[in-house]
Amino acid sequence: MILAAILASALPFEVHGAAMNEDDNQHSSARTEMVREQLLARDITDPNVLDAMRRVPRHRFVPSSEQRHAYRDTPLPLSHGQTISQPYIVALMTQLVRPRAEDRVLEVGTGSGYQAAVLAELVEHVYTVEIEADLARTSAQRLRELGYDNVTVRHGDGYVGWAEHAPFDIIVATAAPEAVPQPLLDQLNAGGRMVVPVGPTHSVQELRLIEKDDDGKITTRTIAPVRFVPMRRGSTPE
Ligand code: SAH
Repeated sequence: MILAAILASALPFEVHGAAMNEDDNQHSSARTEMVREQLLARDITDPNVLDAMRRVPRHRFVPSSEQRHAYRDTPLPLSHGQTISQPYIVALMTQLVRPRAEDRVLEVGTGSGYQAAVLAELVEHVYTVEIEADLARTSAQRLRELGYDNVTVRHGDGYVGWAEHAPFDIIVATAAPEAVPQPLLDQLNAGGRMVVPVGPTHSVQELRLIEKDDDGKITTRTIAPVRFVPMRRGSTPE
């Protein structure tokens, strides 16, 4: 009798736990598949980047109405007319900047915080700037809840970088300026890597990889045509 009572009272928790696990398992198998079909099948080869993409729960970064599409090979809408990039583009940009454990990173365009989380899996610290106050606030909260204590989110205009924490070993822009912002070039460390989509608003842009050598010399490589939301200017100063 006593045993039956204990089992009966334990049951609701077990059911709840099982439901949670099933949900998590579903997402994690979708994620494994995403890595295999969208990343490994293309040109993502860096094992650390692949691991990071396997770990970060992308479904937690998209609106609830989009969660069932979270692991599809496509960008998804966020609030305020913004978008979270397709998983492959996030992985490609991350691989291009060759993250190392000791690196300090600047991201321009926090959006959902997903790219920041992927980077945070791989480097020492990510500083990320978002011009839309609402998005900055919700992403900061989300990243905190998920335990990313090495990400700092700021509401502001990332075109001017974040001088207080410069120089950065890596700069990732996920909104497209018409030309590479000089403040970002200035805030890139010697030996640093920057990836940025450059081009006209609401058109196809080119993804560029910009590197600064130890003497401060800049080299630029064009990687691929991409389409990002425009980098806007002029938020209210903090
Ligand atoms: N990296 C994001 C996706 C970014 S979408 C993610 O992983 O979800 C581009 C974001 O850049 C949008 O949220 C937009 O509001 C922001 N943005 C546009 N111009 C900006 C600027 N000058 N400074 C900071 N953020 C900017």
